[in-house]
Amino acid sequence: MFGFSFVKILFTIAVMVIVWQVFKRLHKRKYSIKDRMGKVKRKDQVSDDQSQVEDMVKCPDCGAYVPEGSNHTCT
Ligand SMILES: [Zn+2]
Repeated sequence: MFGFSFVKILFTIAVMVIVWQVFKRLHKRKYSIKDRMGKVKRKDQVSDDQSQVEDMVKCPDCGAYVPEGSNHTCT
């Protein structure tokens, strides 16, 4: 009787642990996907910044990097 209930308790704990682990993994995966999406978004913003930097042109007169097409006046 004791042995049977002990196995039953162990089985219940095992099932609980498995369910908990599955939930934990699903939760973690959901968060990692969200995090990756955030990183990709941030990466896009960085590449946008880089493209803005590429659009910067060096002023032939003062050597300052100014945005292309901007009304830059040398001081
Ligand atoms: Zn200049």
